[in-house]
Amino acid sequence: MRHEMAGAAAIGVDIGGTHIRAARISSSGDVSAWEARPTPATPLVIDCIVELARALDEPSVSAIGIGIPGRVDARSGLVLSGGYVDLSTYPLAQAIGERTGRPAFLDNDGNAALTAEHAVGAARGADTVVMFTIGTGIGGAVIADGKLLRGRAAAGQMGHITVDSGGRACLCGRHGCVETTSSGTALRRHMAEAGFAGSSVETLLSRLTDGDAAACSVLAAWAAPMRIAIDTAVAIFDPDLVVLGGGLGAAMHQALAAFPAETPWYRCEVVPASLGDRAGVIGAGLTALNGVAEVKPT
Ligand SMILES: [Zn+2]
Repeated sequence: MRHEMAGAAAIGVDIGGTHIRAARISSSGDVSAWEARPTPATPLVIDCIVELARALDEPSVSAIGIGIPGRVDARSGLVLSGGYVDLSTYPLAQAIGERTGRPAFLDNDGNAALTAEHAVGAARGADTVVMFTIGTGIGGAVIADGKLLRGRAAAGQMGHITVDSGGRACLCGRHGCVETTSSGTALRRHMAEAGFAGSSVETLLSRLTDGDAAACSVLAAWAAPMRIAIDTAVAIFDPDLVVLGGGLGAAMHQALAAFPAETPWYRCEVVPASLGDRAGVIGAGLTALNGVAEVKPT
């Protein structure tokens, strides 16, 4: 077993709608141990993170990074508002820090995923990148000129690009955000409405290849609005590439082949995340290592 230097690793934690996953991450993004638990009721999330962190702790660990679904002010370590899991009333960084004895750093889960893809994944070396993370909801992040775009605190909420102003109510308070049409939750709804309840997205994609009209219309309801959101992001940021991550990023990338950019203005390379749905955990670990480096410059 390789001997790891004290302070050379961090624990990355990704809070998802269905699972909380954690891993010990080196500064080069290597994963040396994994743990996961089903996401408990919100008040128990802190206990769950502490338990995962204790299971993965060892002398090489210098900090804990946590990727959070929702709007996060990474600079002050506060959760501003949540979605499927709402931790905004909990002093999360402070509580985790006190209970584990390791400094804790928070960021939005989309920022964490893009941090990983930019450091060691599909967006390595790119100057400007837009990422959409497609899971229970849709998150995202933007790197502009090599740096995460934070705005006042919570820039990069890519799931809340409007694709249908007369559409369904969104958790954010508006209607027809791309999260309401193109998330995993939306895909399950489109599938149930078309009589595909219980099928997998892989089955639908293979039926699309066979020209099945019903499968085609489900995938159109899911992927065509995502194309609108991507074209909108390309218009605003003119990125080198768009990365699709989260558990459904690769499936969405395949489904989008039937929905190319609407006009030459919006042509931009769209790629699946190369770290898959591990990007959030790896990025949370790298965020913690970056946080420690900023607090204690060496
Ligand atoms: Zn919204």
